[in-house]
Parts: sequence; C-alpha cells; structure tokens
Amino acid sequence: MASLKEEVLSRRTFAIISHPDAGKTTLTEKLLLFGGAIRDAGTVKGKKTGKFATSDWMEIEKQRGISVTSSVMQFHYQDCHVNILDTPGHEDFSEDTYRTLMAVDSAVMVVDAAKGIEAQTKKLFKVCKMRGIPIFTFINKLDRQAKPPLELLAELEEVLGIESYPMNWPIGMGKEFFGIYDRFNARIEQFRTENAEDRFLPLDEEGGLAVEHDIKKSSLYDQMLEEIMLLEEAGNEFSKERIAAGELTPVFFGSALTNFGVQTFLETYLQFAPPPQPRQSDNGEVDPTSEQFSGFIFKIQANMNPAHRDRIAFFRICSGKFERGMSVTLTRTGKTSKVSQSTQFLADDRSTVNEAVSGDIIGLYDTGNYQIGDTLVGGKPLFQYEKLPQFAPELFVKVSAKNVMKQKSFHKGIEQLVQEGAIQLYKTLHTESYILGAVGQLQFEVFEHRMKGEYNSEVIMEPMGSKIARWVENEEDVKENLSNSRSLLVKDRHGKLVFLFENEFALRWFQDKNERIKLYHPLDET
Ligand code: GDP
Repeated sequence: MASLKEEVLSRRTFAIISHPDAGKTTLTEKLLLFGGAIRDAGTVKGKKTGKFATSDWMEIEKQRGISVTSSVMQFHYQDCHVNILDTPGHEDFSEDTYRTLMAVDSAVMVVDAAKGIEAQTKKLFKVCKMRGIPIFTFINKLDRQAKPPLELLAELEEVLGIESYPMNWPIGMGKEFFGIYDRFNARIEQFRTENAEDRFLPLDEEGGLAVEHDIKKSSLYDQMLEEIMLLEEAGNEFSKERIAAGELTPVFFGSALTNFGVQTFLETYLQFAPPPQPRQSDNGEVDPTSEQFSGFIFKIQANMNPAHRDRIAFFRICSGKFERGMSVTLTRTGKTSKVSQSTQFLADDRSTVNEAVSGDIIGLYDTGNYQIGDTLVGGKPLFQYEKLPQFAPELFVKVSAKNVMKQKSFHKGIEQLVQEGAIQLYKTLHTESYILGAVGQLQFEVFEHRMKGEYNSEVIMEPMGSKIARWVENEEDVKENLSNSRSLLVKDRHGKLVFLFENEFALRWFQDKNERIKLYHPLDET
C-alpha cells in the first residue's frame, strides 16, 4: 500500500481551457484513451446539438451529455492519477466554469493554430493567472493551414501577457506538415510514418537530424532550424520554477484529431505539472499531505428531474483521505454528519467512491445543506478555506413573479438559488426591482426551470442584454444622478454599489467624465 503522501503526490488535477471548437473534447478523448479510461474515442460527450427545450432536462442531459459523469474524468498514466475537470463552453458556459478553475492545480490551454487566442480562452486564462497556477499550452490543428508559429507565440505574450517556452516546434503545417522538432526530448517526431519505428528520428549534438533523410533537403527543414536558432538566442529560457509560478507557459504543437503530439505532450506535462499544492485557510496554510481530511465545494449541480430534488456537490479534497461513512463537519454551521453517499467520477461509469485523497474530486449527495465555497473538515480543528472569488456576470435580465399572489415562494426561491451560487442578484436603488446576472445564458434557463420545479414560482424574465459590471471602490463619491440607462447603478446582494454599463464605450465615457470614481472588476482585486 502506498502511503498517503505517495498517493497525494501522484495526483495531477487540471482543467482544459479553450474557446469552443479549438479541440478540447478531442484532446480530452485522446488523453483518456492513453489512460485506458474509455474504450472508444467519442464517448466523452454527446454530440453537440443546437437549441434545446428547457422543459425536458433529462433529454438535455442525454443529448448534450452534461451529466456529472463527464464533469470529472479520472485515469491512470505511468505512475500518475490524473483528474481532468471539464469546463463547459458554448451555451453551457457559466460561473461554474470559472469556479472549476478554483479546484485545479494546473491548466491546459488549447489554442486553434489557425485562430490564435480567442475570447473565451482569454477569460478563462485570466482566472488561472489570478490563481498563479501553471498553464500548459497545446497549439492544435497543425494538420491544417495555420498562423506562423512565431506569430502565435507573439500572440500569447501580447494578448495574454504570458511568456512562453516552446517545448517543440512544427516543421511545416497543413498538407506539408512533416512533424515536430522536439527540443525537450531531442528528437523529431514524424507526422506521417509508414511504420512505428520511424516515428522518432534522433538529433545530433548540434541539434540537427542525426540520420539521412529527404527532409534535410527541404526548405521547411532549413526554416525550422533558423527559427529554432532564433528561439535559442532571443527566446525565453526554460525554467521549471517559472512554469510552476504560472509565469512561463511551455508550448506544445500537435494535432489532437490525428492523435499527433498528444502522447509527447501528456508525458512531458505529467513531469512538470504540480501535484496538489498547499492552500490557504483561516487557520493558516493546509498541507495536502497532512492526515486531517478537508476540502471545499466548488460547484453544485441540481438534478433537473423534478422527481428527484437531490443535488450533487462537487468537492475538492485539499488534505487527507476520504473514506465512505466518515464524519465531517461543515465549518459554516458547525454541523457534523456522516457521509454515506458519495460518488466518484469516471469517464464511463459513475461508481461509488470508498477512498479518495487530496487532489481528487468527489461528488457528495446534497439535500440542500451545502453552498458553493463551503469547507468540510474531518475532526478538529475546524477551519475555513478562502472564499471563492466573485465573477463579474455579463448577461442580465429583469425578473419578477408571474403571479403577484406568490411573492413569498418567489423570494424564497431567489434567495436560496442566489445563496447556492446558481445566479447573481442585483437590486435597483429605490424601486428594488430584481435584476439577475449570469456569466452564461444557461444559468437563466436553469434558474427559471428550478424556480418552477422546486419553488412552484413562475417567473417573468425581461432580457437586458449584455452589460459590463464594475464595482465602486469609493461609494461615498457616487451620486445617484450618475445612474442612467447607459450606466445603471444597482446594488449587489451584499449592498455594494455596482454600475452596469451598456458597453465598453459607455464605460470609457463614464470614466473620462468621473475620474474621481474608482471602479473595479472583482478579478482585479488580487
Ligand atoms: P471543443 O469545442 O473545443 O471541444 O472542440 P472539439 O474537440 O469538439 O473539436 C472541434 C472540431 O475541430 C471538431 O470538428 C474536431 O474534429 C476538429 N478538430 C479537433 N482537433 C483537430 C485537429 O487536430 N485537426 C483538425 N483538422 N481538426 C480538429
């Protein structure tokens, strides 16, 4: 039996961040195949479908495969226990996507080589950057015509502000894609090979190809050597420490669809990706290898079938070992209970977990006791992990009860769903009308559905479109006449003042006119 420390150090828990269509699903499938967690690629998620009817959640779950089983995937590779956490894109994008990034120790960023850094990648990157976790970049779709690799590196630095170290470098692309020059493993990996033995070609001491090959006569080869020389002279130096601090991203080129460069990526990734790291609590730093069990809830998934009111709380273990039936205390309330029902997440099966350690994610059945950000601790002392940050919503609706006679259930429902973290609530200053904010459209649909199903409250939602939310630092300087349709002044649920700007232009205009007022975005705080 491995010791707790050995078990914990073998964990690698990460999320893949990307813009829709960059190849996240495809890469995930390939990684799972290497780990032997699934038999056939194509089983990770259901096929993407277009619009759906919110009334039929079971159908949605089936169609889109947003069931819990695909939210956390676990596999073994070499001596590592790998946990991949899904970060939904498209219309599934929500605050949960951001919160999932609070539960990982590193992130893999997939970039479409033809498109470069796209909007959603940028948003998710910002959250990873804030946490200072290591970020590994996989530049995908080299089998297609793409942007020049040097331009892609420049984009990483200019758009995201992160320095990069290419672990390998493409030789040609698209139809002329020959393979990758692997700086890290000192070899060339060929894209098209007749037999497996030819896949890797060794390099000589000067870094040139050590064997005879036609590619040496090609201009693609010369160009690659030139670019490598440029990287050696003017590029960043490799630094394990800077990778660990999230200051330098190792960059890998490949093609997920053709399963090219994925294994090389995985093996190198596992070498440099960190095991679970210490986390801050109100009782000081908690070591992941310490014996006391602890962790926090980062996501709650409601069962959309009205016949089953139960929910699943996603729990990141941050120290010690979980055993089924153990007693845990919810720090917020001080209440102790036995955890008898828990589920572990696997790609092809939802099985019951008996044991899990720091770094692992478990699902706890919840009948309404838990909130997002809650800490659970086994034994004494009790402590609380740091609060999860608040994320600025981008979409807003005005909400009211359809039936004015049912105000009570309307308020109760809103209060609970807001507390649970399903949606954000704002109120206008005097009329106290309710405004809901979300990161993605799905959050509104889930809200509406749950209000009806769980609180018997039908709601009217009037879309307000997208807005830019900025909190006010110096509230005493704000005058109410600053509020208008382009810069609407509201209060968040803690009573803090927030401006909802119509667009970037309105925000800049406001700042020019009111220099004294200091605005901030919640993620800028750190
Ligand atoms: P996701 O939205 O990021 O999960 O992207 P998917 O993995 O679903 O991929 C989006 C599309 O790109 C699909 O049609 C994939 O088959 C395709 N794709 C993914 N990886 C590659 C690749 O390496 N090369 C090419 N040519 N297509 C790819």
